[in-house]
Amino acid sequence: MKPAPFSYERPRDIASALSVMTGADGMVKIIAGGQSLGPMLNLRLVAPDTILDITAITELKRADVSGGELTLGACVTHADVEDGRVPDVTRGAMQRVAANIAYRAVRNRGTIGGSLSHADPSADWVSSLTALGASLSLRSVTGTRRVAMKDFILGALESVIASGEMLEAVHVPVMSGTARWGYVKSCRKTGEFAHAIGAVLIDPDAGKARVVIGAVEAAPIVVDDASELFGGKIDSSFASRFDSRIADRLLADSGMADAADRHIHVAVLHKAVAEAA
Ligand SMILES: Cc1cc2nc3c(=O)[nH]c(=O)nc-3n(C[C@H](O)[C@H](O)[C@H](O)COP(=O)(O)OP(=O)(O)OC[C@H]3O[C@@H](n4cnc5c(N)ncnc54)[C@H](O)[C@@H]3O)c2cc1C
Repeated sequence: MKPAPFSYERPRDIASALSVMTGADGMVKIIAGGQSLGPMLNLRLVAPDTILDITAITELKRADVSGGELTLGACVTHADVEDGRVPDVTRGAMQRVAANIAYRAVRNRGTIGGSLSHADPSADWVSSLTALGASLSLRSVTGTRRVAMKDFILGALESVIASGEMLEAVHVPVMSGTARWGYVKSCRKTGEFAHAIGAVLIDPDAGKARVVIGAVEAAPIVVDDASELFGGKIDSSFASRFDSRIADRLLADSGMADAADRHIHVAVLHKAVAEAA
């Protein structure tokens, strides 16, 4: 099938894009890499009156480090991260996540902002950036607001982005030199969306850990104070003290009734913890 007819705008700056979003008649839909929106248009699951292409906006391709964080414009592609065209503040963690998203053709076009805005619970950036403690700038004609990644996803394909707002930038804290990172996903075949994701950022020196269980068909499960998962304290022996029963209980409490599904998620999380160690 082909998309229903639409008009097409490709502004050069954010202010012009926002005025299209507020001024155009009918439904306006942003397109970035088109990797999710393209199929949805072709299947006529969505039929906007205007397509707003944001890929000519230079500000949305920025990648700079200041004040202890990396800021990436929404239109930075997965391949930009994979190829090291953006500063590495996570000691290779983001590069490894990017390199394992889908296939190279998808990574060439797919953007970090498009992936987050699409809010697929199985998307790699959703879980990994939550574990990395990232936050997002959402921009509208009335200004910009910052939202922590852990508060961004409301459910499957649902985020806090309001009507008239666009995701402008992603902010990733510089990873501490003592932090350990683990990211594991389970896919039936390479390039497929994950069925289970475990993402952990553990700093044994600081006694802290953030644990994310992703691809759970809703917002990821985020444990900001994860000491309970490690027998009450986080130190250099965290891997041997990982408690699978607590992880299983977290999943059961979140509504995952199938014990086999929970087992897969717990096993994937356990592997992520082992990777961090
Ligand atoms: C075959 C295939 C396999 C894939 N496998 C994986 C995988 O393994 N892991 C994974 O994480 N992803 C996977 N993806 C998704 C891919 O990585 C893209 O990132 C994702 O499709 C969306 O990014 P995009 O830039 O193409 O967004 P688009 O398709 O252009 O847009 C997606 C949605 O976000 C909105 N949007 C886009 N940018 C903004 C913005 N700045 N502000 C507000 N709203 C915005 C659009 O309106 C649309 O609703 C796969 C995709 C394909 C086609």
